[in-house]
Amino acid sequence: MAKGDKAMLPSKDCRHCGRPMVWRKKWRNNWDEVLYCSDACRRGVHPGAAAVALSAKGKR
Ligand SMILES: [Zn+2]
Repeated sequence: MAKGDKAMLPSKDCRHCGRPMVWRKKWRNNWDEVLYCSDACRRGVHPGAAAVALSAKGKR
């Protein structure tokens, strides 16, 4: 890690899945409000649970 450009970017963990997410330009205006790494997490859908939810729906 000789070049530290990216290491200097702030980062925090996604509130939903706990994965670390690194600051992005599109978040420069609302970094404090960003809590989730993706739309799926924002909606509360667990990446691994999506398929399970789908199959459960079809059962009834
Ligand atoms: Zn996430």
